[in-house]
Amino acid sequence: MVAWRQEAVTQQRTLAQRVACTGLGLHTGQPVRLSLSPARVNTGIRFIRHTDGVEYETPVIAGSVSATHHATTLGCGDASVSTVEHLLASLHGLQIHNAIVGVDGPEVPVMDGSAEAFVHLIETAGVYEQHEVQPVLRIDRKVEFRSEGRSISIEPARHFQISYRIDFKHPTIGVQQIEIDRLNPAIFQAEIARARTFGFLEEVEALQRAGLGLGGSLGNTVVLDRNGVMNPGGLRFGDEFVRHKVLDLMGDLALLGAPVVGRVRVDRGGHALHYGLVLEVLAQSSSWTMVGESVRGVKKITAPNSGVPSL
Ligand code: UDP
Ligand code: ZN
Repeated sequence: MVAWRQEAVTQQRTLAQRVACTGLGLHTGQPVRLSLSPARVNTGIRFIRHTDGVEYETPVIAGSVSATHHATTLGCGDASVSTVEHLLASLHGLQIHNAIVGVDGPEVPVMDGSAEAFVHLIETAGVYEQHEVQPVLRIDRKVEFRSEGRSISIEPARHFQISYRIDFKHPTIGVQQIEIDRLNPAIFQAEIARARTFGFLEEVEALQRAGLGLGGSLGNTVVLDRNGVMNPGGLRFGDEFVRHKVLDLMGDLALLGAPVVGRVRVDRGGHALHYGLVLEVLAQSSSWTMVGESVRGVKKITAPNSGVPSL
């Protein structure tokens, strides 16, 4: 395991070399080749989808989102790439700020339903620290988003913190809650990255009747029937379900375009709720400040609409 730095990242980071893997798309059931390549400072994360010799580029920003139903999809038509969240969670969780993601199909491969394979891929590539400060989005005032009795908020805190609670009728899940007081790469890798996606047998059957989820199997999804977990190996963590929700949240927060410093609290979340918070934060620009650290202390890089002049 890489000895990740524990302190807040101040330098931008990219991959040290290009790496690639192949896996099945969850929806199409077809093989997809995925590559991760280094990128210059201030590139952010960008998808390039190769289709019939044409390259379509989509930046990982909130404005690129075209769907949040079941999974997060970026871009439209031939440019669209779905099920991006576990890969984006891995890049976010391991603090990779600049990278080009190449895919030759309409979705990121599902691998084992968690982020473990992507974490290994990034570890294989190695991390390269770049000569530019990485600005962080510091929350100064609470921002909240509610939908149908479910809620998500972010409030000021010293670090990136998460409180996540889920409540499912299924007795194997029930109420699960997790508190992470300092989400750094080591915690992400040990506690979150291995948590797999989950679904209920009747939903899986309905999805496949509709021609979706064709690549889904017990090898990449924790499936629950009335009696409990159907996967022969059981669960990886007793609370794998809420840990996977944190993984999804990490991926969806990558749409902010910069690491965030604040405490996120989620009650019964899903992709649409996570994305709702991202849009709300971006809309309420007086509730946060983009800061970059310099050797002489905290230096403001930009402060959109905050009335504070940039230094
Ligand atoms: N859900 C639930 N408890 C929770 C979170 C979600 O019962 O704590 C239900 C939710 O009402 C919906 C289903 O799980 O019927 C899937 O939720 P959502 O579409 O938000 O999740 P996603 O697929 O985006 O992860
Ligand atoms: Zn997921």
